[in-house]
Amino acid sequence: MAQQDGDSDRINIAIDGPAGAGKSTVARMVAGQLGYVYIDTGAMYRAVTLSAQRLSITAEQDERLAEMLASLQIKLEPGVNGQSIFVNDEDVTTLIRSREVTRHVSYFAASGIVRQVLSTMQRDYAIRKGVVMDGRDIGTHVLPNAEVKVFLTASVEERALRRFKELSADNAISLEQLEAEIAERDRLDEQRDISPLIRASDAIELDSTGMTIHDVAQTIVKLSRTKLAEAK
Ligand code: C5P
Repeated sequence: MAQQDGDSDRINIAIDGPAGAGKSTVARMVAGQLGYVYIDTGAMYRAVTLSAQRLSITAEQDERLAEMLASLQIKLEPGVNGQSIFVNDEDVTTLIRSREVTRHVSYFAASGIVRQVLSTMQRDYAIRKGVVMDGRDIGTHVLPNAEVKVFLTASVEERALRRFKELSADNAISLEQLEAEIAERDRLDEQRDISPLIRASDAIELDSTGMTIHDVAQTIVKLSRTKLAEAK
């Protein structure tokens, strides 16, 4: 029985997990293979963080945050390297990946008002199904009835190493620093009161340590095709 109205030939796929587990690459590959839409919810939290930082609003200033959110238009579009994100028509795809945003995003993601606004937008994206959404609370909170739920993990060492390799040579951060920042972000995401990072009880846990991204994506595509066949 479908959770939302929409095309019953399609399903929704939720991919959650800690920072750097490979969720976005995997989600993009799965969406590409199934002809689905990929939604990077982390990018939305990052866009809110960037916007708040520009206005010197802190994560605790609920009223100012609410006012800002009311005037914020967030748009996700398929881009050259995956997904592009626009805030009030400005392309912020690169800006939201700065260390400044990365180090503060978990504080803004703990804000009830921010989560409420973004969760509503995310549910709207998924209403017609055919969505692969990655984040921290998709299987538990945003799309609790998603037909496929995956909790993607990897050791913190491997996650830090993967991120380190992605960074450009002029990025002044050591592997140890990166590992510490990832571990701290995980801690904040796991310990917040609202929609913390946790595996949904009906999610399949995939430990990608030692697996290639391609193998992880294939596993999820296979799971999804099985679900689709069952739904027929
Ligand atoms: O996925 P990414 O690492 O870009 O996410 C950035 C941050 O956004 C996470 O560390 C987390 O604090 C927040 N986030 C969240 N819920 C989501 C997606 C991301 O709290 N569904």
